[in-house]
Amino acid sequence: MYNIKSKKAEEFISNEEILDTLEYAEKNKNNFELIKQILDKAKLAKGLSHREASVLLACENKELNDEIFKLAEKIKQDYYGNRIVLFAPLYLSNYCVNGCVYCPYHKKNNHIPRKKLTQEEIKKEVIALQDMGHKRLAIEAGEDPVNNPIEYILESINTIYSIKHKNGAIRRVNVNIAATTVENYKKLHEAGIGTYILFQETYNKESYEQLHPTGPKHNYNYHTEAMDRAMEGGIDDVGLGVLFGLESYKYEFAGLLMHAEHLEAVFGVGPHTISVPRIKKADDIDPETFDNGIDDDIFAKIAACIRISVPYTGMIISTRESAECRERLLKLGISQISGGSKTSVGGYFEPMPEKDDSAQFDVSDRRPLDEVLRWLMQLGYLPSFCTACYGSGRTGDKFMEICKSQQIHNFCHPNAVMTLKEYLEDYASPETKKVGEELIKTELEKLTTIKDKVLENLRKIEAGERNFKF
Ligand code: SAM
Repeated sequence: MYNIKSKKAEEFISNEEILDTLEYAEKNKNNFELIKQILDKAKLAKGLSHREASVLLACENKELNDEIFKLAEKIKQDYYGNRIVLFAPLYLSNYCVNGCVYCPYHKKNNHIPRKKLTQEEIKKEVIALQDMGHKRLAIEAGEDPVNNPIEYILESINTIYSIKHKNGAIRRVNVNIAATTVENYKKLHEAGIGTYILFQETYNKESYEQLHPTGPKHNYNYHTEAMDRAMEGGIDDVGLGVLFGLESYKYEFAGLLMHAEHLEAVFGVGPHTISVPRIKKADDIDPETFDNGIDDDIFAKIAACIRISVPYTGMIISTRESAECRERLLKLGISQISGGSKTSVGGYFEPMPEKDDSAQFDVSDRRPLDEVLRWLMQLGYLPSFCTACYGSGRTGDKFMEICKSQQIHNFCHPNAVMTLKEYLEDYASPETKKVGEELIKTELEKLTTIKDKVLENLRKIEAGERNFKF
């Protein structure tokens, strides 16, 4: 039944294979010899299979778990250095015809205000985001063929890319919209999107159908096969994720890795990113009513095991999580975070009240972007607004090739330094600028051959030029 190369959801995410994997992991969770062998393989930093990774996730031995965490930190360092890429979500519309029981935008919620941004409003939102310093957005919309047809999404992407305000520009638009057709994915690809992101929510078909009782999203197979269609449509960077709390985390973890393995086996390129959202409180949603919530320790273990299992896949944590939780996971493998986010439609131009009933979920990390940046730098991270890979056509397998050979540093590191410099010149508070200038000095020391070129570009940035990249 399990067939990694099948195009059928129930064959590449076989329930039987997941259950067998969980049984194997449970049986071997105290098999220290096997765990050590898996850790030795993991140290090669070429990844692990879902079975091997599930054994590590199940392991409850303190010393071995410490080793898992240490290895995750090392792999993170080897592949991503101290860079953290920043982005912001932009909610276009909360009209939705689905019945997702964990989401306040579900169709039956008739007391939240429904809103869809006009192109004029999108302009205002994007200018507000550019004025914060953002260069990379993830657009979000509910599923509603009448209110949010693909034409609306395409027009919005076009609008976003066209806005050049002061020195600002959105250089990469990632898209998080419901599963759609190959034709529509082709159109998104032609519109120049970065990553197509779609959370699976849960890989367990039975639970999935109960959690999505009505609307087009009810169709598990159509949803699960979406990334295959996206890739057939030419999108070669896709972002996976599950909503932790809906189902048993061990089940989701195995499913997530099987999905990644499937994409790699069929298209020769695994997911560009994996997101790790947890269910949060929202308008008529109480996370306590879901039985599978995970605590911060398990959450950290999941992040570490993902990092070890798919070293070349970026990992994203959003402002759903608190600063403390984000700090812990950054060390273990997160490579991208959102900052200064608003999860309501139209929240950037006209800030919503502190308690905003129209938000998709409560944001825990409410700090402005400038503060998030300063915090990152004070922790020793190098914030990056780089979008160069996308701008230079280094996507999909071309990106993965340089990433797997760890050459990505040669591009990402100087680009991170230069985009940080742009931020410091254009948007930073004096305090953040001071911390940033010091950090840039330290980071320049790490550069060898291209140091002079980077120094020259930094001088040009000070003189007002923008958008340098390697
Ligand atoms: N409608 C699109 C879809 O079906 O994929 C866009 C997704 S929605 C705007 C973004 C994601 O937010 C969802 O995929 C879901 O995982 C997450 N989400 C929904 N309700 C949430 C909640 N209460 N807490 C945390 N995340 C939530």
